Formats: sequence, structure tokens, C-alpha cells
Amino acid sequence: MIPHMAKAHLLAAVLAAWALPTSAQNQLREPYQLQQMDMHLHAGLELETPLDRWLDAAAADGRRVVVLLDHLELYRKTAAEYRDWLLQRPAFVTRYPMGPAGRQALMRDFAKAREHRGLTVFTAWEVSEDELDTGTEMDVLAQVDLVGWHISPRNGKQPPDGKHLIRRASQLRELQQKLPVPMILFHPFTMRVENLERTAQREGRPISSITTAQYRFFQPGEQRELADLLRGRSIYIEIARESAHCMENPACREAMIADIQPLAELGVRFTVSTDAHGLRHAQLPFRPESYCKPLGVTPANTNPLVQELLARRPRPAAPRTP
Ligand SMILES: [Zn+2]
Repeated sequence: MIPHMAKAHLLAAVLAAWALPTSAQNQLREPYQLQQMDMHLHAGLELETPLDRWLDAAAADGRRVVVLLDHLELYRKTAAEYRDWLLQRPAFVTRYPMGPAGRQALMRDFAKAREHRGLTVFTAWEVSEDELDTGTEMDVLAQVDLVGWHISPRNGKQPPDGKHLIRRASQLRELQQKLPVPMILFHPFTMRVENLERTAQREGRPISSITTAQYRFFQPGEQRELADLLRGRSIYIEIARESAHCMENPACREAMIADIQPLAELGVRFTVSTDAHGLRHAQLPFRPESYCKPLGVTPANTNPLVQELLARRPRPAAPRTP
């Protein structure tokens, strides 16, 4: 509970901010530091701890703004499939029905989460990129603050690359004509790394045999093409926490800097996240500055999504004049 005096101060501050023009309001908002933002935090069927404790832990670890989400496809199981899935995952504590009832229950819990005192909470669905080809559930996606598109490693197949991401970005632009919400391309770069490293392991080659040229995501000209598609649009690229792993390997680091830094210079905007699904993830350190700084990913080019989401929030009713 907020003490009475603090409440009065809060109200005064809100009313004062309300009277200011929008540009002045934006200046009042301090940008979030990278480690204060988690724009991809799983908080649905895979939770291993009650949601309120999960949020408390995020706040205690320094987060101030979070995007809560779950994988949309998890709710498409039959009741029997869900039962089997849970049997293999005894640590999961959340229980929702499958289908629309489960999605609604999740949204009710997310609505309650918005009351958390230490966190600004937004909501999302994580959707498989394949649904950009096959079609998706537009009415469901219209109910959240933003949509994150899961770029897959496509293990055992061609890894994601520049051409692939350019195609996905074009599809998002097209989709936003019908569904005008912010969208994020989730973890494209680290999914390429995962594919290459798993392939090497499968073929009995050491990770150190993968060259910078093989790690490189983009071919010449592709970064400009992608930036031209994204500039001025509400489409962001996630810089995943696994980037830290890549930055420890000189060949991977060199490729990642060559891939991402020019995008930042061309005006592409990013997000940072833990992509934490459960307790094991939550115990890993989240130090995005360590890998973001050399990539050119900064508070300046990661705060725009937060600003956009805040601006899209329904405005409180204007105070009544007597
Ligand atoms: Zn995820």
C-alpha cells in the first residue's frame, strides 16, 4: 500500500505532469538503463514460481519495466496433450485451461501484475515466425501491448541470415497495416550462432573452427536494406542475453559487432531482455551493458519502445473541474 502522504504527492505529481505539453512530459521521464528493462519475460504456463514472487524477483534484481508474455502456441494443446506435457515438467506451478479460457486467465493475471509497485508492466504474446507465412490469430494478438516474433534457429537446416530477417521485417510491415501494435523480432542473431555451433558439435568439429565469415549474419548491402525497412516503424530487434556467450568468442564477437553496430548507426532500434522462462534462467546474471556497449546498443536506442508503449497507454480521465 502507498502511504497516504505519498499518495497525495503522487497525485500532485501526476496532475502537474498532466498539465505539461507532451514534449515536456517526455523530458521528465528519465531513460531506463539497460539492466532496468526486460522486454521479454516469460510469465505464463512455464512459471516455476507464483507470478507475484517472479515479479518481486525481477524488481529485486533491478528491473523497472518488463514485458510479460507467453508462447501463443502453448494454448493450442488438447487437454490430454497438456496433461502429458505437465507430467514431463513437474516444476511448473501455473495451471490454465487450454484454448481461449486459458489465454483469458493469463490476461487476467497479467492485468493484476500491472499493479506491481516496483515495475511498469506491459503484455505481449511470443509467436512463431512461421505464423507470418501460415497466418495467425489476429484477434488474440490485438489484446496485448506488443507482439514478439520468435526467430527460430532452424537447427539442422539453413541458419537465419540477413535475407531471412529482411523478409520477416517486410512481413511485419505488411501485418502492421491490419494490426498496428509495436513488434519485436526476437533474438535473430543468437539463433544463427546456436545453429552454427550445434551443427559443428553434431559434426564433431570444435566451436573454434567456426570462422568470423561463417558467423556473419549479413551480406554486403543487407544492413542498409533492413534499416530502410525498419526506420520510423514500430519494429525493434532484440539483442538477446545469449549475446554475452557469443562475445566471449573472438570470431563470434567480431561478426556480431560487424553485424549490429552498423544497424545502430543506421537508426535501427533495439530491445534487451532476459527471455527468462524459469528459475534456472533467473539465476543467471543480466548485465546487458557488457555485450550491448560494443554493439552500439544503448539506452538511447532501446528506450524508444518503452516511450512508445507508455504513450499508447490509455490516458487517465482528466480531473473534473467543479
Ligand atoms: Zn521467449
